[in-house]
Amino acid sequence: VAARGAPGGGADAAASADGDGLRPVVAIVGAGFGGLRAARALAQAPVRVVLIDRHNHHLFQPLLYQVATAGLAPADIAQPVRSILAGQRNLDFHMAEVQAVDLGRRTLKLPAGDLAYDYLIVAAGGQTNDFGLAGVLRHGFGLKDLQDALRLRNHLLYQFELAAQTDDRRECAALLTFTVVGGGPTGVECAGAISELVRLVLVRDYPWLDQADVCIWLLEAADRLLPAFAPPLQRAAWQMLGRRHVHVRFNAAVDAFDGATVTLRGGETFPSRTLIWAAGIRAADLLNRLGAEQARLGRVVVTPTLQLPGRPEVFVIGDAAYLEQDGQPVPMVAPAAIQQGRLAGENLQRLLRREALKPFVYRDPGLLATIGRNDAVAQFGRRTFRGFLAWVLWLSVHLVQLIGFRNRLVVLINWAWDYFFYDRASRLITSR
Ligand SMILES: Cc1cc2nc3c(=O)[nH]c(=O)nc-3n(C[C@H](O)[C@H](O)[C@H](O)COP(=O)(O)OP(=O)(O)OC[C@H]3O[C@@H](n4cnc5c(N)ncnc54)[C@H](O)[C@@H]3O)c2cc1C
Repeated sequence: VAARGAPGGGADAAASADGDGLRPVVAIVGAGFGGLRAARALAQAPVRVVLIDRHNHHLFQPLLYQVATAGLAPADIAQPVRSILAGQRNLDFHMAEVQAVDLGRRTLKLPAGDLAYDYLIVAAGGQTNDFGLAGVLRHGFGLKDLQDALRLRNHLLYQFELAAQTDDRRECAALLTFTVVGGGPTGVECAGAISELVRLVLVRDYPWLDQADVCIWLLEAADRLLPAFAPPLQRAAWQMLGRRHVHVRFNAAVDAFDGATVTLRGGETFPSRTLIWAAGIRAADLLNRLGAEQARLGRVVVTPTLQLPGRPEVFVIGDAAYLEQDGQPVPMVAPAAIQQGRLAGENLQRLLRREALKPFVYRDPGLLATIGRNDAVAQFGRRTFRGFLAWVLWLSVHLVQLIGFRNRLVVLINWAWDYFFYDRASRLITSR
């Protein structure tokens, strides 16, 4: 396609019929929470937006664990970028992996050729961080994209099929031991969801299955769960997991995993065929190739206006960006990426109009984590909630945040069906 901004075209490529060729090109890398909001914020701006993502869809990562535990189907939590931004006339979408950024020449390296930009917004997000631990991601499961979630769903369900075919009790115990690593919201929600999948659904699929045969570990290297929450909520979440027969172990750091045995720091080992790594995220690989200053977890240091120091035409936002507020880094969460995406779009337009740029101020909308049906913890400033009320809040907030009316409706129907009929519609093993 010889559109302006297409790979090989560049900023000086032939203008399109509607005169868009005269407009500055804004390239946005990543159609996640931040990139999508930045693109929308530029809908009325006199620019040509080129949005690039390696996937053709926007993914609602907070519900990935529900795909992994057979509660939702992939299409329920993802939506094609082209359909989300269909009405935006100043935008082109490219499904491509950005291999490198040449800040000096103002070009992005894509498989099909170079793409020139006038302004750049990097919203490439994060990726699973295994801290270099042996075998953890090779034999275990990260949870960052749909492929990860489907791989985990297939594996979890297949363990029960294998267990159904063995008389060896030790083998059966290893197959039915599920180890979740990381006591943050993802680990807690994942451990709770596996427990409910087993206790409420799979016991009916496998009548021989005794709940006592299934062991779910939640390993946390520190001495508490949900570190960002108030201590009473941390304790409440621990008790809620206990009621679901999830064994929480504190001060337990994983050292290695070979697909059959988990090794803890200190040398202790135990058999488990499943290790789910929910213990860390770092900035996406692309940020290592930007040639900019990086802080903790590979995040790129930005100015308060979200620009790269010395490069006013480049904005970095979301999980990829490092900015401190009140002495603390802005957290790697969806609301921060959304708020930064909006501000990057606004600041870019201010830059075009030669107006002063606004500094970023993070507004914390609160914290939520669900442990299972009727049980969640929630914190809004000093107000805390737990149990059923927090669970309803969790459901409502996640439904509202999902993109697309169809997805909201399908997820609502799915949740209602699961709630009333103790069922999980998506328990298909589609590959081994
Ligand atoms: C399992 C899980 C659960 C979570 N739960 C919550 C939660 O409950 N609440 C909450 O607030 N936050 C949660 N988060 C964190 C939240 O999802 C992130 O903070 C948020 O997605 C960051 O937004 P972003 O725009 O920076 O990056 P992302 O949303 O990750 O988007 C980055 C995009 O960039 C694309 N990309 C990356 N590199 C390239 C490249 N080289 N070329 C082309 N495209 C590229 C990716 O495909 C992706 O689409 C969760 C995260 C995970 C993984």
